[in-house]
Amino acid sequence: MAAVMDERIETIYRQVTARNPGEDEFHQAVREVLESLGPVLVKHPEFVDQKIIERVCEPERQIIFRVPWQDDRGEVHINRGFRVEFNSAIGVYKGGLRFHPSVYLGIIKFLGFEQVFKNALTGMPIGGAKGGSDFDPKGRSDNEIMRFCQSFMTELYRHLGEYTDVPAGDIGVGGRELGYLFGQYKRITNRYESTVLTGKGIAWGGSLVRTEATGYGAVYFVREMLKVRADSLEGKTCVVSGSGNVAIYTIEKLHQLGARVIACSDSNGVVVHEKGIDLALVKQLKEVERRRIAEYAAHHKDARYIPGGNIWEVPCQVAMPSATQNEINGKDARMLVRNGCIAVGEGANMPTTPDGVKVFLDARIAYGPGKAANAGGVATSALEMQQNASRDSWSFEFTERKLDEIMTNIHASTYETAEEFGAPGNYVVGANIAGFIRVAKAMVALGLV
Ligand code: NDP
Repeated sequence: MAAVMDERIETIYRQVTARNPGEDEFHQAVREVLESLGPVLVKHPEFVDQKIIERVCEPERQIIFRVPWQDDRGEVHINRGFRVEFNSAIGVYKGGLRFHPSVYLGIIKFLGFEQVFKNALTGMPIGGAKGGSDFDPKGRSDNEIMRFCQSFMTELYRHLGEYTDVPAGDIGVGGRELGYLFGQYKRITNRYESTVLTGKGIAWGGSLVRTEATGYGAVYFVREMLKVRADSLEGKTCVVSGSGNVAIYTIEKLHQLGARVIACSDSNGVVVHEKGIDLALVKQLKEVERRRIAEYAAHHKDARYIPGGNIWEVPCQVAMPSATQNEINGKDARMLVRNGCIAVGEGANMPTTPDGVKVFLDARIAYGPGKAANAGGVATSALEMQQNASRDSWSFEFTERKLDEIMTNIHASTYETAEEFGAPGNYVVGANIAGFIRVAKAMVALGLV
């Protein structure tokens, strides 16, 4: 990345990489935050004295466990489970669970680290954590998913609690998995503790809008970025990578706000439909039938499916990466900018590599990093916790209005913080500094713990 690190911070970064060998994604996430923090130390020498940066890079607790389970043929499988409870200075540990074969400690730590600052940006009382497993849910039956989730929760439950750690979903963990996880938690503890998980189904303690929240929130963030540039989403051509939870509700809100999404994807390929993606079909294929996006083209003669395609080659004005980390590299970013992209809103976590981020910042397009742009999911999880605590349930309209307010506030605070620290329009700097300062002040106040 372009930014030169403060010398003291460079030393800390070197210690972090040495202490956490082989965890590339974690190093990348730490570096990206640390690069923004030089000016903060000048204003806050107490953060240096209290070694806040060193402390914030070290998770408070890391749990790794065996997850044995049996498939439908009776064969035994062993997976690895993780929960990294990163920081609880401003609230209980909060962050999703990811089930994907690529999961290892470095991925969970990068996600947990990001989550600390993201959660701080929401303004709500939630600390940061992340968890998951290298289990691959693809092609598994409902019964296999259930047995895996039950085994996973049989270990994890002892670490959870309303006042301790409250997980949610992420890649590979949606309503079905959260149901099995909650069912097992309830069975083991003999307690109906709605507050122990978020993203729950509406019939068993969930919040309206939680399913839509990350995607909707990311679109609100882009709307706000365009607003300060006296522009809007109306009539914009967009591409959205992925076709999971975040992608689907990103597409939905973009369409509601008058934009046209012409491409989406999964890990096998890309669908391009110039007329506009048929979202009802995507929902049917992905949410109901759990099929591949390749089948989309069979339903629409004027749509193209590109096996193994690169979605960032599809010219667009707004790009919303909503699949996974490092899905946009420097070359992709240059192509997007060359093709006329004016805004990027990250629904996924860390979807752009450092050289890609540099391209967006140098081109001065509206670039909303995931930490800020995708915070709507966890913010609505916090709203779900509020509803559970008061045994109340709010209407869709009321909850969505709250989400909109939260995203508008996150945009304003990241925008203003970037200005205050001499980097106008740079939401990376704004998000990192605003999130960090909130956590750091709480850590100083709580003493050396
Ligand atoms: P889902 O599992 O619902 O969907 C993930 C989508 O991304 C699928 O289309 C999947 O395709 C694709 N994908 C996943 N991994 C890869 C990969 N390695 N290469 C290419 N495509 C891939 O997950 P979510 O929609 O919940 O999460 C998407 C992103 O958003 C993640 O980065 C997550 O951390 C982030 N996020 C999610 C939040 C939430 O509330 N759910 C909150 C904040 C951030 P395939 O089916 O082929 O694997």
